[in-house]
Amino acid sequence: MAIRDCQVVNANYERVLAVMDKFLGERYRNVCSCPRCMNDIVAIALNYLPPHYIVEGGIGKEYGSPWVMVESAVSEAIDRVVEYPNHSRMEAVRPSADARGSDPVPS
Ligand SMILES: [Zn+2]
Repeated sequence: MAIRDCQVVNANYERVLAVMDKFLGERYRNVCSCPRCMNDIVAIALNYLPPHYIVEGGIGKEYGSPWVMVESAVSEAIDRVVEYPNHSRMEAVRPSADARGSDPVPS
């Protein structure tokens, strides 16, 4: 086997994605959903958590940090990205405004 074929994954990565999916659908509906912000949230949340590497395929057991830890890491990460997005707020708004045409935003 070539070293490059190693299939080691961070179990917390899957957990973060699962919690994000839940949070963004339920309680955080105003989060910018552009790829940049989504990736930032995942990266920040993973940095809050200890890595928990497993060999891929070890599914069926409970791997990774406790869910409550993952949930607090994700909510901290979302708060941070909402407050300090890596792009200006205008950039995040513009694509959908353009797509809708000349509809002015009601003030
Ligand atoms: Zn964004």
